[in-house]
Amino acid sequence: MRGYITIPKSVPCRNCKYCGSRPIVALSGKDGYVVKCPVNSNHYQTPAGLIDIDDWNAYNIPNTELEPERDQLVACYDSKLNYTFFLPV
Ligand SMILES: [Zn+2]
Repeated sequence: MRGYITIPKSVPCRNCKYCGSRPIVALSGKDGYVVKCPVNSNHYQTPAGLIDIDDWNAYNIPNTELEPERDQLVACYDSKLNYTFFLPV
């Protein structure tokens, strides 16, 4: 028997903000359940108790510094690896 439960895709939950993994629900001793990253126990996990996906989601808000809103920018670089950014026309 596995010691964890995968969360159904129908449940809206964010991926781990450190590694992008979809979280799992694991039994935490006799204290209840935790929502945690399946890859690394050092990544966030919710306090033991009821399955608290809201708490997981509140913590794993994507870091806006890592994902700047520059989707519209195109990056080019020349043979000397000088980058140029411009907006497509
Ligand atoms: Zn993770």
